Amino acid sequence: MKLNPEHLKPESIAAQALGWIDDATRAITPPIHVSSTYLRDDDNQYRSGRVYARADNPAFDQAEAVLAKLENGAQAALFASGMAAATAVFQALAPGDHVLAPKVMYWSLRNWLMGFASHWGLKVELVDMTDVAAVQAAIRPGKTKLVWVETPANPMWTITDIAATAALSHAAGALLAVDSTVASPVITRPLDLGADIVMHAATKYLNGHSDLIAGALVARENNDFWQRVKKIRAQNGATLGSFEAWLLLRGMRTLYLRVRAASQSAQLVADYFNGHSLVREVLYPGLPGAQGHAIALKQMPGGFGGMLSIRAAGGEAAAIATAAKVALWKRATSLGGTESLIEHRASVEGADSPVPTDLLRLSVGIEDADDLIADLEQALQLAHQ
Ligand SMILES: *Cc1c(COP(=O)(O)O)cnc(C)c1O
Repeated sequence: MKLNPEHLKPESIAAQALGWIDDATRAITPPIHVSSTYLRDDDNQYRSGRVYARADNPAFDQAEAVLAKLENGAQAALFASGMAAATAVFQALAPGDHVLAPKVMYWSLRNWLMGFASHWGLKVELVDMTDVAAVQAAIRPGKTKLVWVETPANPMWTITDIAATAALSHAAGALLAVDSTVASPVITRPLDLGADIVMHAATKYLNGHSDLIAGALVARENNDFWQRVKKIRAQNGATLGSFEAWLLLRGMRTLYLRVRAASQSAQLVADYFNGHSLVREVLYPGLPGAQGHAIALKQMPGGFGGMLSIRAAGGEAAAIATAAKVALWKRATSLGGTESLIEHRASVEGADSPVPTDLLRLSVGIEDADDLIADLEQALQLAHQ
C-alpha cells in the first residue's frame, strides 16, 4: 500500500521525511544528487523540467516537500542561508515600497534593512510589533507592501500576535511574512494563522545539529509574488549545496523530538532562575508574567520554545563573567542545536543595539535539564562573588 501523508501527524511526516523511497535503488534515505546539469531530450526539449542546478536542484525536492507539509504551505524553497531567504522576500518588492519591520529583531537582518535595502529604495519603518495598535497606526493602506515579524523575537523573546497582524496587513493590502526560526513548525504554524510567507534560518532548529548554514521560505499560495521570490533565488544564485540539503533533510527527521525536549528544559530553566537572587529578570514567553504570554498560549500550542534570556543581577560584568564560568553550556553564537549555548548579546550587537548589557541569551539544547541548571547556578555564583 502506498503511504498517504494526508492522514499522518507531522511527527510521522518528519520522522520518515514523507516516506519517499528512491526509485532507482529502493533506498529509504535518499542519495545525494550532486549533478549541476541535465541532458536535453533528442528533440531539444527539457521534459525532465531540469536544466541547470542553480534553478532546479533535485537535492532540494524532498526537504522542500517535507517543510511545505510541516508548515501547511503550497511550496517551500531552500536557500544558502537564513539571510539569503529573508532578503529574497524583500528583493521581490520594488524600490519605493513601504515595509514595516520590528524594532527588536534578528540583528543582521535589521542591519541589512537599514543599510542595503534602504539604499536600494525600500522605505523601511521599524515599529513595536508587540503592540497591534502601533502597527495599525504605522501601516499605510495601498503603500505598505510587506509587514515582517519575528516571534518570539531575538533576543528578548517578545511575542507578536500573528493572527491580528495578518488581519490588519491584509486589510491594508500588505503581505505578512514571519521569521519563525525560533518557534519552528513544532510550536507555531504561521500560515494557519494568516501569514503569507514563513521564513526559517534552517541553520537552527530545522537542521538542529550546528553543522550547516541554510535558509528556507514557505509560501501559503503559489502566486506571482512567490514566483518572483523563486526567480530571485535562481538569479542571485543564493542556493544551498546538495550535501547541505541532504544534511538538513536528515536533521528534520528528529525535529519534533529535539524541539519538544529543548522546550521542556527551557521552561524548567526559566522557572528555576525566575526570582533567583542573582538574576534580575528571566525573559521567556512561557512565564506567566512575560510580555505576550496570553498570545503565546494561543499561538504556541507546542510549547514556548528553547530560547530564553536572563539578566544578571550584577550587571554587564557579572553577565560576561557568568558566560566565562560555565562548563556544560558553550559560549557561542547561534541557536537550535543539540548543545546548549550561552552568549552575551550586547557584545555581539554593538553600540546601537536595544539589548540590555546585563543580558545573556540562552539556547537550550537536549542535555539533561538538571545538569544545565546546576552549571548555570555555579557560574552565576562565581560571577557574583
Ligand atoms: C540565525 C537567524 C537568522 C539568519 O540565518 P543564517 O542562516 O545565519 O543566515 C535569521 N533569523 C533568525 C531569528 C535567526 O536566528
